[in-house]
Amino acid sequence: MNYVNLEKILKGQGEPKFRLKQIKKAIFQDGVFSFSEISTISKELRESLGKETKILSFSWEKVLKARDGQSIKALLKLEDGNLIETVLISPKPGFWSACISSQVGCAMGCRFCATGKMGFIRNLTAEEITDQILFWKQYLKKSSTPIVQSLKLTNVVYMGMGEPFLNWEEVRQSLKDLTNPELFGFGSRSISVSTSGIGEGIENFGKECPQINLAISLHFAGDKRRSEFMPVNNKYNLEKLKKALQKYFENSNRKVFIEYIMLENINDSQADALNLANYLKSVGKTHLLHVNLIRYNTTSKNLKPSSGNATQKFKNYLFQNNISATIRKSLGEEVQGACGQLATKI
Ligand code: SAH
Ligand code: SF4
Repeated sequence: MNYVNLEKILKGQGEPKFRLKQIKKAIFQDGVFSFSEISTISKELRESLGKETKILSFSWEKVLKARDGQSIKALLKLEDGNLIETVLISPKPGFWSACISSQVGCAMGCRFCATGKMGFIRNLTAEEITDQILFWKQYLKKSSTPIVQSLKLTNVVYMGMGEPFLNWEEVRQSLKDLTNPELFGFGSRSISVSTSGIGEGIENFGKECPQINLAISLHFAGDKRRSEFMPVNNKYNLEKLKKALQKYFENSNRKVFIEYIMLENINDSQADALNLANYLKSVGKTHLLHVNLIRYNTTSKNLKPSSGNATQKFKNYLFQNNISATIRKSLGEEVQGACGQLATKI
């Protein structure tokens, strides 16, 4: 929703200031689907707004729901015809978390990631980023499934398509809008931004958004393997990433989540766990580092997820080395909307 344009239109029509507030509340808080649903304004205004502007900057192509009702994926068609995906996941009972995209495709080319295989197409605008949340609000409001509707959308994660720190201007604006009490009004602590490890991006984020959660897609604690699977490591190797994290902690005291995909016989041995623990200790502030062990969602024939047993052992090794870790249940696999599977085949 282009709220700057909305304001202009209302001003042009000589509407009083509180009108904008009323309309913003209906759109951003209540999730109305069209202007015609806003009962607090006159019929004439509803009609003229409907002609001059629209609420969502894209249309939806497809919505896929997992049978267990715990994840829903939407395929959205942008105005220029490009497609993006967004997923709604319920990681804990009673709540929805929206996983949103920041770019169409991604330039980083991580070998285990479906989005990486698409390559980079373009950046999303702040409006296109936050409209994904509006889309889910509208979807939940209209859903005829009581269980889907009853859960509250409380969290936002930037873990869809794209590398947020390579689209920082628009991502920053989108974070401002999401936390603006007159718009979405999310608490900073309910939002997480995930990066593959762009050094300057991490440092800036600490300065500009110290209250928003940061997640680092580390996945490998040795440069050789990390470069092999994540080309970003050629530019920002583990040493540079460490320095960026240390700078980050000069500005923020929030816990940082270290994402670690468990790949069988690639990064899941006891030696790998020790390397990881040692690396995190070398960063310092281990009480502010928490490892999420993620089940690999199959995107390539050559890679396999680690077994549950290997993952549990890995977690125990980390624990013995004073590193806290959680095994993350994979959600959304059924709708091909789990993290890393967001690739739009056109
Ligand atoms: N580009 C950013 C944010 C989007 S990716 C980043 O990489 O952090 C969101 C998360 O999903 C990252 O942690 C990413 O490494 C992970 N991911 C990618 N492919 C995956 C796969 N096949 N299975 C599980 N997680 C995957
Ligand atoms: Fe891009 Fe993240 Fe996928 Fe890597 S994991 S290709 S950075 S979206």
